[in-house]
Amino acid sequence: MDELAAARIRVFLNDPAARGDASPSPSEPPRETERPPWGFRIEGPAPPAAEYTPDTGEFLHWQLAAALDRGRRLWSARFPAAGTWVAGPVLPAVPIAGEDLNAYYDRRALRFFRGRNPETGSFVHSGESPDVAAHEQGHAVLDAVRPDLWDAPHFEVAAFHEAFGDLASIGIAFEETEIIRAVLEETGGALDQSNLVSRVAEELGAAARARFGPGVALPEALRDAVNTFLYAEPSRLPASAPADELSAEPHSFCRVFTGACWDLLVTRYLAAGGGRGSAAQDGAALAGSARQVGRLVAAATEKAPVGAPFFSLLAATMAREAAGDAETRDATFSVFDRRGFPRAELPAAEAPPTDDVVRAAAGPSLHPEVLGEIEALLGRVRPEDLLTRASSRGRALRGRRKRDLRLSGREYGPADGAAVELSDSFELAPRRDGFLTAAAVHPAGRAEEEDAMAWVRFLARMDRIAPEGDPAGSLELFRLKISHRVVREGDGVRRVRRVWIV
Ligand SMILES: [Zn+2]
Repeated sequence: MDELAAARIRVFLNDPAARGDASPSPSEPPRETERPPWGFRIEGPAPPAAEYTPDTGEFLHWQLAAALDRGRRLWSARFPAAGTWVAGPVLPAVPIAGEDLNAYYDRRALRFFRGRNPETGSFVHSGESPDVAAHEQGHAVLDAVRPDLWDAPHFEVAAFHEAFGDLASIGIAFEETEIIRAVLEETGGALDQSNLVSRVAEELGAAARARFGPGVALPEALRDAVNTFLYAEPSRLPASAPADELSAEPHSFCRVFTGACWDLLVTRYLAAGGGRGSAAQDGAALAGSARQVGRLVAAATEKAPVGAPFFSLLAATMAREAAGDAETRDATFSVFDRRGFPRAELPAAEAPPTDDVVRAAAGPSLHPEVLGEIEALLGRVRPEDLLTRASSRGRALRGRRKRDLRLSGREYGPADGAAVELSDSFELAPRRDGFLTAAAVHPAGRAEEEDAMAWVRFLARMDRIAPEGDPAGSLELFRLKISHRVVREGDGVRRVRRVWIV
């Protein structure tokens, strides 16, 4: 065995604040991280693999690489045919992009920061937390799988980006037997109790509370998937609220969806024989149910049409995906019903597998007959407004017709007179003769228009929109907490576009 093969690193498998007095565990260093799928590169010089001390640059490098590598394995399994970022085949990750208690993704890179906890006096590196690393990587994965969500002007779409990030950190945690054991020990097998996996970003949350006050994070963590929040229409919620209340802000509002997914995990765990006191059986039940829920969320992520009631559309898609297993389907409906989500109607049943037909249709231009089918359902469309994507399993073709919604009024701030893009979603299904037909349509209606207008008013009220012509780059806008900008595009229309997501 050569020296390199023998070299080990040490990493935290879960958030550093959950470590207590425990030291990081020895681990194999990730290798060839730039290879697809989901390749990544840690910016800066790579120190040789060795067992470094936490809070050093060398430790941070390997800690971040190990967490992103766990994410890479998870997403390769969840989205088997995907794996290319919006930025290209390799996503850069910057371990220390500056001083802050935060991290963000801007379609070009993941950026992590360091900031001091004023109470303890010590530095907190956001990239040292697998929770934070997986959350940011989750944003980038979701953007790759569903690029249409990036600019979608809806509260629940923005909140789903956050829920997906938290579910990503929960997902990588439950791939580790050591963590499963620790969760079962902490909860005594009662998974509806808050625990080290349901609590997200403990260390960052503690530093944020110490610096900004108790309203910005829960006492134990930044967020917790074990919660009792009930659904309310986000446009009717306050724009901001203390951490123990629900607001329209995506990081707050996401918790009602993450919470419902956790509820589903608990029901599946119990159904699989978990919680009866046998460590081996509980462990197997937890690992299996975490994967089951993760697969349902991934499938719904890929397939749900975009719309204002996005959480309900996702829930209905998850239930449809579970249809072969009536118990899981009913449990899915029931956990979302209990949280107060309205039920959404999905337009049509999933099309059967038709790999060849779909690949042929996924080319640069749609067959005129297919275009005719879409027009029969949506009315006249310009081909350049149609965006299609084949599913990562290569079995269906979905797409959207984008259309501008113009905003007018001072309440839109810098977006007054600009447009946002709404989407009419459609799904193409095969016919017996091999042609595709437009089978399912979810058009953007009045609800989507009103939600989009409320969303931009929310952004304007929170001073999150940069005016047209503002030359600031993403890092500068991030420092100013400005997440969107007005951009004049090639066709002369000014549109509101997202710059970064935390
Ligand atoms: Zn986020």
